[in-house]
Parts: sequence; C-alpha cells; structure tokens
Amino acid sequence: MTAEIRLFPCLSDNYGYLIHDPVTKATASIDAPEAAPIIKALQHEGWTLTDILVTHHHADHVGGIAELKARYNCRVVAPHDQKAAIAGVDVRVKEGDTVNVGSLAARVLETPGHTLDHVSYVFDAEHAVFCADTLFSIGCGRVFEGTYPMMWASLLKLRALPDATRIYCGHEYTAANIKFALTVDADNAALKARAAEVARLRAANAPTIPTLIGEEKRTNVFLRADDAAVAAGLGLAGKSAAEVFGELRERKNRF
Ligand SMILES: [Zn+2]
Repeated sequence: MTAEIRLFPCLSDNYGYLIHDPVTKATASIDAPEAAPIIKALQHEGWTLTDILVTHHHADHVGGIAELKARYNCRVVAPHDQKAAIAGVDVRVKEGDTVNVGSLAARVLETPGHTLDHVSYVFDAEHAVFCADTLFSIGCGRVFEGTYPMMWASLLKLRALPDATRIYCGHEYTAANIKFALTVDADNAALKARAAEVARLRAANAPTIPTLIGEEKRTNVFLRADDAAVAAGLGLAGKSAAEVFGELRERKNRF
C-alpha cells in the first residue's frame, strides 16, 4: 500500500502537508505552519499525528509545533539548529539520515541557502520530496542565510532526483513566479504551456502543487543556471552556474 498525502492551505500562502502510512496508521505533518488547519485535516481523515518533520526554523513552518505536540504527544524531527533554535525537537537529523514514519522512509537531504538549517525529506518509494522553501514551482526560495553557490548546490541535489518525483513545496507562489520567469525565459514553450495550466488552476482556486522534477527541469529557469543559453540571455556568457543563479535570484528579488 502506498502512502496517502494530503495538501491544504495554511496562513496566507503556505501549504500544510500530511503523509499517512496505511499499514501502521502513522501520520506525519511536514512542518507545522499553524495548528488549526492541521488538526482539522487530521480529524477529517480520522488520522492521529505521530510525527512532525521540520524543514527549517522560520515561524511560518514551526508556529504550530507546540500546540500539536501538546495535543498528540507526537515526535518532532528537525535539522540541527544553525542561526535560530527550533523548540520542542526530539530527534535531530542531518544529510543521509533516514526518518521512518511508520513503515514509510524519508531520506534527509541538507538543502541550505534559504536558511542554513534547511533540509528536505525525500520519500523515495513514494516518489515524493518535501522541499519547503528551497525549490518552488517555477522558482526557488530567497537566499536569506546562505550564499548563492550554497543554494545552487542545494537545487542541484533536488534536480538530481528522478523526473517522476512529486515536489511538495512550502508555498503557493507559482503564478507570481511565472510572471518573473517570462521576463528571462520568454521563448520557453514548456514554460508558456505551464503558464496556461497554472492560470486555469488558479482561476479554479486549485493548487498548482505538486509539480514534478521532470516538469521543473523544463520550465524552471532557476534549475537551468548551468544552461549556456540562460547565461547568454542574461548577458553572462562564460560565467559560472552559481553566478548565473545569483543574477537570476537578484533580478527576482527586485521584480
Ligand atoms: Zn522559510
């Protein structure tokens, strides 16, 4: 039996996620933006929260931990603290560790850049990655604590996952990301097709997530900073991929 994954909005533009193991009934929340919608989703399914897998320390990812832990006595798994402490943690994880949610297994990828502590959880058997604020559909997270080469290296780790991997990211930013992407990647037919699909989905108030690694490799310019055509389009022919990535990220910051 394969895992069941539920996605629901939290706060203004975050996504909450539950992953449920039908064999053992274990259920993990990926991050905890706020407790109420997570509790509501659990009650709707008749599931009990056993684990919270934390990706990074930002308040819109950890704000619900205390209330959920008090209510469910669940285990809290989180990366090692770097710039800011994460409270209520039971297990600390690092690159290469495996986290079990019942009979499901998640591999920990360190994906720093947005924050220094940022990790992603890869459920290989489920073809799913929870990458929070590292990789978005048609975009990537802001680089607050790390460096551009660090963030580029993190994106390369995610890009190396199989094309059929479903990407569950931390926010619904796709439509805004596409507006920017069309300013630097306007001739990309796959991007234009995705733009039309996203416009349809958002008009119906439907999520644009999950997306797929293979789809993002074609449409997300932030994953193509090592493409000579992207560098040339930015006037950066011959520059390193990390420099091209940095220029893309800075243009997006100013957009
Ligand atoms: Zn964040």
